[in-house]
Amino acid sequence: MKMNKSLNLTENRDAKLIEDILCLKRQRKTIILAHNYQLGEVQDIADFVGDSLELSQKAAKTDADVIVFCGVHFMAETASILCPDKVVLLPDIHAGCPMADMITAEGLRERKRELPGAIVVCYINSSAEVKAESDVCCTSANAVKVIESLDAEEILFVPDQYLGHYISTKTDKRISPWPGFCPTHIRIQPEHVTRLKQEYPQAKVVVHPECRPDVIVLANEVLSTGGLCRYANRTEVKEMIVGTEIGIIHRLRKENPGKKFIPASEQAICPRMKLITLENILWSLEEMAPEVKIPEKIRLKAKAAVDKMLEIGRG
Ligand code: SF4
Repeated sequence: MKMNKSLNLTENRDAKLIEDILCLKRQRKTIILAHNYQLGEVQDIADFVGDSLELSQKAAKTDADVIVFCGVHFMAETASILCPDKVVLLPDIHAGCPMADMITAEGLRERKRELPGAIVVCYINSSAEVKAESDVCCTSANAVKVIESLDAEEILFVPDQYLGHYISTKTDKRISPWPGFCPTHIRIQPEHVTRLKQEYPQAKVVVHPECRPDVIVLANEVLSTGGLCRYANRTEVKEMIVGTEIGIIHRLRKENPGKKFIPASEQAICPRMKLITLENILWSLEEMAPEVKIPEKIRLKAKAAVDKMLEIGRG
């Protein structure tokens, strides 16, 4: 009885929060963008849910005045790089990506001096300063296409060594990876996948390329989160073992009620992604803060690297 009462209180609180967010959103001409790893209730309130590439394309096209970015810091920075006239809000300024923090602009400049002939390809999971030091950006969805399109044999790939390793298996170009990694994806171990394959022999294994190579070799498909959602929608397969951050399971189950999605590891949680909540989305809209804004000199250089990626995507 008591439990039902507290459940009702939570539902009422969420309903009121959502109503207030939607009301302020209209007043401020706002679009809410959410990454596939966000909490379920945050995904549900967003105008658009997607992967890094889809979100940056959406940010580039929107005619909203304000973008509330439900993701991590580098994603809000990318929106600000592409839309300098818009207010870009990140509801919790501490929502940073540990992998993006594994490289600095100074560290990259040093490495470039050691590899003077290399083209620098920078995964979108990086700061604006690091993008500004790079020749072109990529996401996990378009990394191979971007690298194949370049007129260079040697690539300095930053900051994810595992995505770099995956790309090196798909191209003849020489890839020198920066030694960064995603602390969430490395929690997925090959033993987890092997055990689940025994338990669900009919299931297909779909994993993100940020996973370790010994996990990737066990997969039927290696896909970005956007690619993974499209695969789940179109495939006849009824059971999938999903090797990426577990926030995506919410969207997969919502869009595919007849299919079963099994997280490869319940430990694959990105704590920084979960810092965004309904409460801080509302506070952020009330106070129009914290705003993410890039100094113009860095923004222009970073934008050149992002634009080059978007152009290759259109080609
Ligand atoms: S899941 Fe990994 S790459 Fe993505 S934001 Fe979290 S730490 Fe960064």
